[in-house]
Amino acid sequence: MEQSSFPKCCKCAKGDLVPLSDFGSQGSSIHYKAWVCTNPDCGYNLKIRNGDVYIDEPIMSGANNVRSRHNM
Ligand SMILES: [Zn+2]
Repeated sequence: MEQSSFPKCCKCAKGDLVPLSDFGSQGSSIHYKAWVCTNPDCGYNLKIRNGDVYIDEPIMSGANNVRSRHNM
C-alpha cells in the first residue's frame, strides 16, 4: 500500500520521514535540511548542513537545560 510519498523511517519502520525547512532570523532561507521521523517514540532525525550529514543528532530541548537552583 502506498499511503504517502515520504520514505519510511529506517530506524523504527513505523513512522515516516518528513522534510523540514529552516529559515534564518532575517527570513532568508539557509542551506539546511532536516528529516524527522513522525513517530514520537523514535525521534530519529537526519540533518544535512553545509554538505555534512548529521544522523540521529540529539535534539536540543529545554528539558535538558534544567539546572538545579542553588542560592549562592
Ligand atoms: Zn522512526
